[in-house]
Amino acid sequence: MQVAGNTCICDLSQARSNEDRDRWMLALERAWTTGAHLSCECPRQGDKRLRFTAGRLVREPGKGFEHAPACVFYFPPRSQSGMSSYKVGVRAADTPGEWCLEVGPVITSPLEGFKQASSASSTMFSLRALFDFVWTIAGLNAWSPEAQSWRTVRDVNDRLLEAARDIYLERFPLVDYLLVGTPGVKEQKRSNRAKALKALEASRPFIAIVPLAAWSETREQASDHRLALTDFDGIPAFSCLSAEWQKALSENPFVVDAWRGGDRVLAVILATPCSPRLARLEKLRLVPVSAAWLPLDSAEQRWMELKLREEQRCFWKPLAFDSVSSRQLPDFWLEEGSRYAIPIAVRCEASRE
Ligand SMILES: [Zn+2]
Repeated sequence: MQVAGNTCICDLSQARSNEDRDRWMLALERAWTTGAHLSCECPRQGDKRLRFTAGRLVREPGKGFEHAPACVFYFPPRSQSGMSSYKVGVRAADTPGEWCLEVGPVITSPLEGFKQASSASSTMFSLRALFDFVWTIAGLNAWSPEAQSWRTVRDVNDRLLEAARDIYLERFPLVDYLLVGTPGVKEQKRSNRAKALKALEASRPFIAIVPLAAWSETREQASDHRLALTDFDGIPAFSCLSAEWQKALSENPFVVDAWRGGDRVLAVILATPCSPRLARLEKLRLVPVSAAWLPLDSAEQRWMELKLREEQRCFWKPLAFDSVSSRQLPDFWLEEGSRYAIPIAVRCEASRE
């Protein structure tokens, strides 16, 4: 970071501990409140001013594309993804989070908001779009060689929860009811359990993002009506109607191919709690992701994504959100250091018939 006037470079990645990092943040915030200008030092030209909002360091609203794709403040231009289909549903809010989603008319619970979301409206978010939104804000649809160091499950979860702090569904911060799958991280398990319990007490729905358990024929048939998950520490079991399961499986033929082939497939779940250990699944979306956690739609994309990573390229995948024109989106946008990204399309039409 640069504090103009008194130039000061502060490399937060060099902090030896969380306490060090918090101390540096406090010093930066003090400088900010006394009128210093803060800007990010990531390698890209443009307006990269930063500021503090509610104790957190954030970018200027609408200035995400000015940052390098590997930077935590990066956000791709809306016009290059399915986000461009929203006219008024997504707006930048001054406080407390950067994003405020209008998920329906005045709602008392997020579930009602999702129930009202329909493809007929361009202003409401579905569960599908919410996943795309969280993933985009967390930077998990983008890749650059520097991203390698933080694609562990733990770091990915931290990014997801950080992104969820920035998203408000009406007056609810998403982070308060987002549970994420964890391979035995104690704090995450505790946090999942506390959120599930709170949702149960308030008779409120919650959202969970958890990987499916490894494929087996029995699991694909879902004969016991329980969603087969892995890394579900602190997360209740989900009862799932066969129709909802089949619908999620058949949304894209690649979902089943990827699952059978051993790829990681994430279950994005909207559920209402029934007891501390059981919740009823209301809506389900299945998303295959690469080893680097980028969402994938086809075998061709999987191949290209791997090639681009092997070649140490910098790229991002535009997510479709609720856009009906998603077919016109390229598979990836390649960032070659210039001001403009290059579209890559790897669709193989013949194989889709
Ligand atoms: Zn930056």
